[in-house]
Amino acid sequence: MALGQFELAARVLAGLFVIVTPTLLFLGLWHGLQSMRDDALVQRVQQRVETGDEAALSLSPTPSPDSPVRTCPNCGTTNRDDVGYCRQCLSPL
Ligand SMILES: [Zn+2]
Repeated sequence: MALGQFELAARVLAGLFVIVTPTLLFLGLWHGLQSMRDDALVQRVQQRVETGDEAALSLSPTPSPDSPVRTCPNCGTTNRDDVGYCRQCLSPL
């Protein structure tokens, strides 16, 4: 069974669509992600990692030097005075 000219053209166009569309979608995603990138945030995190500032990387709040602190009887970690549990071992203060 021979393909008609119209049917052959339709198949070639469908093949091109299947090949080109995912590529364009991927490039669009890539450019979208690049435009959303927060360079200042990436630089701050990189600086903290390079300087090894463990307190800055930690998610738990570290008591500032001039605020009253409470030392954990279990592990000896200094905690803020207004908290009920140790930030290191979670035992009650
Ligand atoms: Zn503790």
